[in-house]
Amino acid sequence: MKAIQLKNITKSYDDTKILENFNLQIPHNEITCIIGPSGSGKSTILNLLSELLIPDSGEILNLNDKIVSYVFQSPRLLPWKTVKDNMKFVLDNKIEKNKLDEYIDGWLDAVELLDYKEYYPNQMSGGMKQRLALARGFAVPGNLLLMDEPFKGLDAPLRFKMVELIKKLWEKQKKTIVFVTHDIQEALLLGHSIIALGKKPVKIIENLTIDIPLN
Ligand code: ADP
Ligand code: ADP
Repeated sequence: MKAIQLKNITKSYDDTKILENFNLQIPHNEITCIIGPSGSGKSTILNLLSELLIPDSGEILNLNDKIVSYVFQSPRLLPWKTVKDNMKFVLDNKIEKNKLDEYIDGWLDAVELLDYKEYYPNQMSGGMKQRLALARGFAVPGNLLLMDEPFKGLDAPLRFKMVELIKKLWEKQKKTIVFVTHDIQEALLLGHSIIALGKKPVKIIENLTIDIPLN
């Protein structure tokens, strides 16, 4: 099976090693969730995958696609552009001009925003804005989609709906998704596989015994 491979990656900021001889396989066209506490290196891994960061040593294999899209915690929409034009903005020159409107409509329909094409972000709820950010992330024609705690600010029932929505969008257009969260439930519901990162430095407890009380 084809996969993006992080091989023996070491990455430090100043004197702090965040990743040391780190290895990870990210299967092609599957959803890989990365969970871990704050500061464990989740965003660093995404930034290595998008090549915003370069590892100190080690290599990343099979990172063939030069179009990478990101969905962040804040939807990062352009406030002076309508829903439709926020989509257009990221697709310009990537989709044939005469197919663009239909293509955008297809993705807006998939996230139930087709009736809101002419709305501006400040007329929309947090959930609607994040649905638009998801549509935008999927519509960009690259294969690699990185999501950094996209639902952190949303309440639990809405987060659950968003997880279902990602599954539906992934069925419509399979992509390699790396989804960062600190919510284990989100990861369990969404991921084909889950990578768990620990707090640094990782403590190894030796001679651990567990007393199991009888009766
Ligand atoms: P996570 O996404 O799991 O919260 P990050 O990858 O953002 O973790 O960060 C891991 C650690 O590296 C944190 O302690 C963070 O403060 C630190 N860090 C991240 N980026 C930088 C940077 N550009 N310079 C210095 N330290 C950084
Ligand atoms: P998120 O919650 O989306 O992961 P963060 O607030 O952790 O965002 O980090 C935002 C950006 O700031 C990241 O690109 C990260 O690399 C950088 N960063 C995080 N911690 C530090 C730090 N201690 N020094 C410098 N840059 C940092």
